[in-house]
Amino acid sequence: MRSKIISLFSIISIGLLLVVYFNSIKKNGISFTERPNILFIMSDDHAEGAISAYGSELIHTPNIDRIAKEGIIFNNSFVTNSICAPSRAVLLTGKYSHINGVLDNGQVFDGGQETFPKILQSAGYETAMIGKWHLKSEPTGFNYWKILQGQGEYYNPLIIDNAGERNVEGYVTDIITDLAIETLENRDKDKPFAMLLHHKAPHRNWMPNLKYLGAFKGKKFPLPETFYDDYSTRSLAAKESDMRIDDMFLTWDMKLKPGDIDQETGSGGSGQVSGMIRDSYREWMNDEQRKIWETYYDSISADFRNTNLSGKALLEWKFQRYMEDYLGVILSVDENIGRILEYLDQEGLTENTIVIYTSDQGFYLGEHGWFDKRFMYEESLSMPLLMRYPKEIKAGQISDDIVLNLDFAPTFLDYADISTSNDMQGQSLRLITKGKQPLDWRKSMYYHYYEYPQGWHFVKRHYGIRTDRYKLIHFYNDINDWELFDLKLDPTEMENRFNDPAYQEIKSQLILQLDSIRVAVGESH
Ligand code: CA
Repeated sequence: MRSKIISLFSIISIGLLLVVYFNSIKKNGISFTERPNILFIMSDDHAEGAISAYGSELIHTPNIDRIAKEGIIFNNSFVTNSICAPSRAVLLTGKYSHINGVLDNGQVFDGGQETFPKILQSAGYETAMIGKWHLKSEPTGFNYWKILQGQGEYYNPLIIDNAGERNVEGYVTDIITDLAIETLENRDKDKPFAMLLHHKAPHRNWMPNLKYLGAFKGKKFPLPETFYDDYSTRSLAAKESDMRIDDMFLTWDMKLKPGDIDQETGSGGSGQVSGMIRDSYREWMNDEQRKIWETYYDSISADFRNTNLSGKALLEWKFQRYMEDYLGVILSVDENIGRILEYLDQEGLTENTIVIYTSDQGFYLGEHGWFDKRFMYEESLSMPLLMRYPKEIKAGQISDDIVLNLDFAPTFLDYADISTSNDMQGQSLRLITKGKQPLDWRKSMYYHYYEYPQGWHFVKRHYGIRTDRYKLIHFYNDINDWELFDLKLDPTEMENRFNDPAYQEIKSQLILQLDSIRVAVGESH
């Protein structure tokens, strides 16, 4: 009898202890083990046109594609201001550039403002930022951060954290992935994690890993159909920008030896770049790396000297060289996404981790004769977006909803079951990822680019609205010009219909819609 009482007492005690234990790991009514981890992978300047899940025929990206195959891919994912630092500030705050204060690459991010990593951290997430930060101020809201300085280096990059800085030997995309895996290894496993893993790649000047030099050599890439665009129906903004493939530098972009060229052909950027000959980026390499690098590029340089190209042949040769290096850099991005997905598999984290792949904005791969971004035209307005979360997102979904980089912050807070801060301007994607259509989902998006006349590439200031079918853009500052495109009939945006009599009614409607969206986002009163 006595032993029965003791064992009953023991069972009750153990039960009570278990209740106390499980309550102790609960917050906001949800246990930490139930809240999803978040792995947000963002590269820099990766065009949808260079991802096979988006139908690219330039490159095969099986690891990036895996995220879409096991989750959802967004066909209409856009950036609100197509340039590096502003896109990152929108990501963190869920607010447009004119509210978060980073209008262009010259401005410093105010780290005192509210961001989603800060909110997740105070709700019990372990937060980390690894890779390219590019916001000038020190990261805030992270338990751990390890970042590149500014744009960062492709080889043996300087890595900065709160303990100081050091050079890490190797190739930047591998190193950022190593640091991410090391941080995940050492994390507090009783907490969910939210990690921002930001690659430098494939940013200009496109330096591939040594093992991928020559991976695309000899392949003939087709010229985009708009390669020889003469901008005849557009405002002066397209013609006067400085981002044509013709404007690329033979030394810095094409990596030729200064002695092998008669004169530098490019202007692509600004006056500051003229001093950036190829020695300025090779200085980060060690002797062994430099030897392999020089063997490869010196032979291209010698061929160039011997063939003596000019005019159209030179321009098309530049395009081929651009594609070889840009896509070579992406081979490492895809390989390293494969590594991190495999790590999640091995650790049993796949099921409960939301994985996102995106880029800070799109990029031109020769369309309209360009490289770079900035314009509201489709190639640079679009951001790739693929998401996987096996627990909640059904595999193999495709969304055509208009989604924005403004939506990331509210989405993560929604998944973490934290009610969204009222002043965030994006909307959670959670319902869409469940295959549902939210009733009040946006039917159009607002865009505004500000970096002119300062900065690179001389793309004039402009703002505009894009609906599922039309796009209206107003270029201002030192011009006052409008462009209107019918994306259904003219998906490559070659015909400006602003003065076309057949479009006057839709034009008036779009002008009204643009006025009202500007008021709604707080940019006009
Ligand atoms: Ca970028």
